[in-house]
Amino acid sequence: MKIIDLYRQESPVLSLEIFPPRMDYPLETVFTTVEKLIRLQPGFISVTYGAGGSSRDRTVEIAARIKNDYKVESLAHLTCVRHTREEIHQILQDLLGEGIINIMALRGDFPEEQENFQLDQQEYRYAFQLINDARQLADFGIAAAAHPEGHPECRRLSEDLENLKNKVDCGVDFLITQLFFDNRIFYDFVDRAMAKGINCPIIPGIMPVLNAKQIKKMIYLCGASIPSKLLSLVERYENIPADMEKAGIEYASEQVLDLIDDGVAGVHLYTMNKPEQIAEIVNNIGINRS
Ligand code: FAD
Repeated sequence: MKIIDLYRQESPVLSLEIFPPRMDYPLETVFTTVEKLIRLQPGFISVTYGAGGSSRDRTVEIAARIKNDYKVESLAHLTCVRHTREEIHQILQDLLGEGIINIMALRGDFPEEQENFQLDQQEYRYAFQLINDARQLADFGIAAAAHPEGHPECRRLSEDLENLKNKVDCGVDFLITQLFFDNRIFYDFVDRAMAKGINCPIIPGIMPVLNAKQIKKMIYLCGASIPSKLLSLVERYENIPADMEKAGIEYASEQVLDLIDDGVAGVHLYTMNKPEQIAEIVNNIGINRS
């Protein structure tokens, strides 16, 4: 089933994102997490590709098992930068071979370790090229990334939105956003996207802040701004891990409840492979549970 059909059938759809374990961890460890997350009855589970040092090769296998063994729809992330066209076509064929028809088409970040990395020498420079290729190859369900505060490399939000519109026009079914901590940023972004003619569902991506170190890393990686309410929670609890986690779960739950109240088509939770904490949020918000 294409995931876009899920958004048409039910609302709001709960989706959960996991990452593959690093190569020095057994693959099986991730399925303990998957089994716990499936109990939360998500509409689909997405599996990241090469993010945070995880192995690229494991994404296809994990996404395939979620779909074929656990019978839950999966969304396989795929980043194109640093891949050749031939490699991308092979991965897309591998996905099709496993029955995976939903992909999250991404550009990917530049390698930190490669100082002389040059984007203009890459076969793929932007996500829209991957989207074009996937569309030509097969009838994939395609999701793509949106950046409510603007992508860090883009000088102007208006340019970023222009590029987003181009990406969507290449054949994107729905967008999932980068994490944000202030819902007003998301609402404002959706208004501007709609004014630009972007009419596909825009699904908010929410990451609970479970420890103070994690939030610093996230600001560094994606440039999300921190509202004063969250900052004061972090300052108050940064040395009391259990309280920080509790406050982070409450903060994320409030964010999600407000988004649902506003009528979003779905909510995407960045689980960080922490099913217990995610279960608390799902319990607090009460979506997709019988
Ligand atoms: P693009 O849409 O290509 O945009 C990248 C930049 O290029 C933007 O600044 C854009 O404005 C600009 N641009 C786009 N088109 C043009 C054009 N035609 N001309 C000039 N400039 C242009 N990373 C991973 O490594 N693995 C993952 O699994 C992963 N999952 C993610 C999931 C979500 C929901 C999100 C939001 C991000 C994810 N990322 C992942 C991070 C993502 O790879 C980075 O944010 C990356 O820097 C940008 O990817 P993109 O697909 O948004 O790129």
